[in-house]
Amino acid sequence: MQIDLSKFKMITNVENIGNKLILEINKNYCTEVNIPYPEVEIEGSIIKINTHPKRAENLKMGILNLISYNIATNLKSKITKRRTIYISQNIPLIGHTAFGLIDRGRNIIQVRGHCGCNLNCIFCSVDEGEFSKTRKNDFYVDLDYLVEEYKKLAEFKGIKKLEAHLDGQGEPSLYYPLVDLVQELKEINKDGIITMQSNGVPLSYKLIDELEEAGLHRINLSINAIDEKMAKMLAGKRDYKIEKILDIAEYIKNSKIHLLVAPILLPNVNDEEFKKVIDYTINLDLRIKQNVINPLTNKKDPILGCQLCEVYQLGRKPKKMKVWNYKKFYSLLKSYEEEYKKKGINVKLILKPEDFGTHRRKKLPYVFKVGEKTLVDVVLDGRVKGEVIGVAKDRVIQIINCKESEEKLLGRKVKVKILRNKDNIYVAEMI
Ligand code: SF4
Repeated sequence: MQIDLSKFKMITNVENIGNKLILEINKNYCTEVNIPYPEVEIEGSIIKINTHPKRAENLKMGILNLISYNIATNLKSKITKRRTIYISQNIPLIGHTAFGLIDRGRNIIQVRGHCGCNLNCIFCSVDEGEFSKTRKNDFYVDLDYLVEEYKKLAEFKGIKKLEAHLDGQGEPSLYYPLVDLVQELKEINKDGIITMQSNGVPLSYKLIDELEEAGLHRINLSINAIDEKMAKMLAGKRDYKIEKILDIAEYIKNSKIHLLVAPILLPNVNDEEFKKVIDYTINLDLRIKQNVINPLTNKKDPILGCQLCEVYQLGRKPKKMKVWNYKKFYSLLKSYEEEYKKKGINVKLILKPEDFGTHRRKKLPYVFKVGEKTLVDVVLDGRVKGEVIGVAKDRVIQIINCKESEEKLLGRKVKVKILRNKDNIYVAEMI
């Protein structure tokens, strides 16, 4: 009797040291499984069970259970080196910002299939990357479950002219299988669009070709500096190569995926480079014309989505950075628009939701009010220190500032007070 692990879609590579299996799960995760049976021999992805057929059948079940158990409880991200919690049925996908789906009452559903990032940007608002000081766990959502729940939410909101936007606390293109996800979302959003944010590092020509084929409408590509040294410094990664990202930008520009470059201004840090990214993008747009029409607006999307760096409680802030308000930021962008106008180039840098076809849309009802006290089941360890995750009324709830350890809380029913419910993202404290 034998088990062929290559038949399991989520197992993307198998290695072994003796009877210890090292499984790569969905490309970016791994788990180790000790097979405690001497009758077992491992050869590549094949596990041979050399014993009486009746006992072999029992051992097979035992091995498969061990593998499932380790995937569920002992998964590690190869990117961030953090423990990763595999989310499947029974854990609602509404309520947390680290994974699942977010509905902010517009025709956009934010899709967060995983968290974790390959970069360590010095300004990261969610303190992501391998060297994060605050994040203790990552999450990964099972593809079928994610699509199933997306469909339910899309049907509730009204499927017409929807946008599924892949973003999150990390790099969305690290989700695997990304192409299948885009394709399945596109099948639901027939007359709508699928868009994605990316820092560009995991993108390759092949992946872009596949995403184009799957129906991805737009990539919002982060480029924050053209100068190599500055770009590396901002990304917090020595092997970050801006030439590669610029090459990828050019490749996207030649595809049917609309390229939007999204530079972030860190006042007093990358002011000149921020402007250089705007210049670069406008030149690129003049050089390579793209004619991808957004079906929500029947127009082309903007080519630039300039952002201002803000300071968040659990985010990172470069020491030299000055904090600006939006009035100042918009007046800078206005001056750039005028500078270009004088050269006969019309470029829109101050954008409105309507530029992307975004409009108000029926919102999921709130299930808890702020201040409300309720009982929740603690089901998972949390994203940051002092947090566990509870479930009640088909929502997940981040229970913060926990005094007791996660081991003590898991599996218990606890009483909490809701501190925040905006956009159905629930934060609570134990009482
Ligand atoms: S790419 Fe985004 S998520 Fe990743 S570290 Fe940079 S800012 Fe954070």
